[in-house]
Amino acid sequence: MSPDDYTPHSGDRRYHVEHYDLRIDYRLSTNRLDGVAVVRGRVLEATKSVSLDLVGLRATKVQAPRGASGGKGGRIGFTQTDRKLKIAFGRELAVGEPFEISIAYGGAPRPRRTRWGTLGWEELEDGAIVASQPIGAPSWFPCNDHPSDKASYRLTITTDPGYTVAAAEPVSTSTRGGRSTWVFERSTPTPTYLATVQIGKYVSRGMDLAGVEGQVLHPPALTARVQADLAPLPRMMAVFTEAFGPYPLPSYRLVVTADDLEIPLEAQGMGVFGANHIDGRGTLERLIAHELAHQWFGNSVGVARWRDIWLNEGFACYAEWIWSERSGGHSAHAKALGHWAALAAQPQDLVLADPGPELMFDDRVYKRGALTLHALRLTVGDDVFFRILHAWTERFAGVTATTEDFRTLAASVAGRRLEAFFDAWLDLPPLPELPAAPAAGARVEPAPVTEALNVNPRAAGGR
Ligand SMILES: [Zn+2]
Repeated sequence: MSPDDYTPHSGDRRYHVEHYDLRIDYRLSTNRLDGVAVVRGRVLEATKSVSLDLVGLRATKVQAPRGASGGKGGRIGFTQTDRKLKIAFGRELAVGEPFEISIAYGGAPRPRRTRWGTLGWEELEDGAIVASQPIGAPSWFPCNDHPSDKASYRLTITTDPGYTVAAAEPVSTSTRGGRSTWVFERSTPTPTYLATVQIGKYVSRGMDLAGVEGQVLHPPALTARVQADLAPLPRMMAVFTEAFGPYPLPSYRLVVTADDLEIPLEAQGMGVFGANHIDGRGTLERLIAHELAHQWFGNSVGVARWRDIWLNEGFACYAEWIWSERSGGHSAHAKALGHWAALAAQPQDLVLADPGPELMFDDRVYKRGALTLHALRLTVGDDVFFRILHAWTERFAGVTATTEDFRTLAASVAGRRLEAFFDAWLDLPPLPELPAAPAAGARVEPAPVTEALNVNPRAAGGR
């Protein structure tokens, strides 16, 4: 029933969710979460039941306000295992029939242990974060946990006073009975792994990001470091808008936690960094570019299945090189030469378009993905290459795409056959030679590779 053999226990292909309305009460002192999730969707095949992913939290009541209960509405049957909530409708729903179910649930949320590390809702020293990619979302709400199933969200988060909550586009904040309630909307289609809640003792500062509304949230003690390291962000936004097309969301938020985090991570309309990533010296500027680029690649143009993860990570990694090139650093070509040499010294046993779940976040996926784009750029020329990127972000904005979609679109924009090129870079393990650079210009020296290439996804730098 899962839509994806990379995550065989996640998602249910029998239905599509259109909207999640999540009302969550979270107590920081006791790490207690109580929620009501109203899930509105449509069945894609005739069925009497559906399953949602929910891990570590218990459902206590399931209701179907209309349609699906088989009668006037009311409580409907459910069973729960350690990862699934199975809902039995009172009758069979026909293909395309809408349903709405309301699930009351709660417990002590904690990150889910997976082959990709611990994922999901996580307590901080004084706050909480969500870092779900790829299957952490069920640690905080019942969902159809697969990236092909994008939905809109409304999030109502009630928590202790004195904290700032960031989740999506803010609607309202109020205080009642000594607790604060924050309401957010996310109308942009969003997969479960990019839905997020961030809670901390943060100050927030608005930022004009080249005409896009920006906001930075961080502990007051980090103000100087944050200001120094995020100074390039408006220019980054301008460079990426020019290179990739219009910024696809209403705003961009950047959250810096008081805690150190293993890796920075993208969420919808947001980048999340640990205090250790923002040192005030711009050491990880490339990762600030990387997470911003995910808003186009991964968040707007989404993957339909995890095997296509290079469409997220290869593109975000190439965005780092574009930023380097346009901000006075090494050219993308010099970066490519350096990384090509580093990759050539690694085992040639990875198929970029289907790396397997174990190697999904292997650094080679990132670097070879970026090299594939650079090789494409050298093959078709700058003008056509950037037209391909613009066409990609426009054609697949807000939906999902596959590697085949990219191959087809690139060949169409370039007006030439690219099968042999893509076969070599995407489907065969050996690392192809980089095409020759345009003759004009002096010889380019490879840029030194400063970040380690390794096979540990949790240490790869960022996701
Ligand atoms: Zn990434």
